[in-house]
Amino acid sequence: MAIREIFFADDPRLRQQAKKIKDFGPKLKKLADDMLETMHAASGVGLAGPQIGVMQRIFVAEIPEDEDDPDSGKPFVLINPEFTKLSDDIEEGQEGCLSIPGWIGLVNRHTALEVKARTVTGKRIKLKATDFLARVFQHERDHLDGILFIDYITEKEKLWQVTPEDDEEDAFEE
Ligand SMILES: [Zn+2]
Repeated sequence: MAIREIFFADDPRLRQQAKKIKDFGPKLKKLADDMLETMHAASGVGLAGPQIGVMQRIFVAEIPEDEDDPDSGKPFVLINPEFTKLSDDIEEGQEGCLSIPGWIGLVNRHTALEVKARTVTGKRIKLKATDFLARVFQHERDHLDGILFIDYITEKEKLWQVTPEDDEEDAFEE
């Protein structure tokens, strides 16, 4: 495994559409492993292909262990993800991004969703996600279409800067 360089939001690749993955060979497994390692090394909860300059429809996610949440503390790798259901319920919550370090914003997201995707070996899967994991999936899915969380923020008081010294207990970067 290897840690990849994470690109910042001013890199044009962060604004491009990623391509559908068709080759489910060993290179893809290596890419997914690198992405998980890179995400963990950066203390992030999600990472999408374009963030490391890979213009393919893949993202990884893992939310911190929480005994009340069975989806926490386990790694997800989603390839060619498509949302098949999005809840009517929408909730505003804090979001950060590994490509926009030091900034936190308030973004509305669906509180639950269903997603179909492929695994690294090409197997079709269907997953349900709620609350924080659903938020992370929506944030990462957006990266595949060149969308960043700051695009949703129209009121300037809903975006603020944090310094590493600040208590970032409730802030996660994706
Ligand atoms: Zn992000």
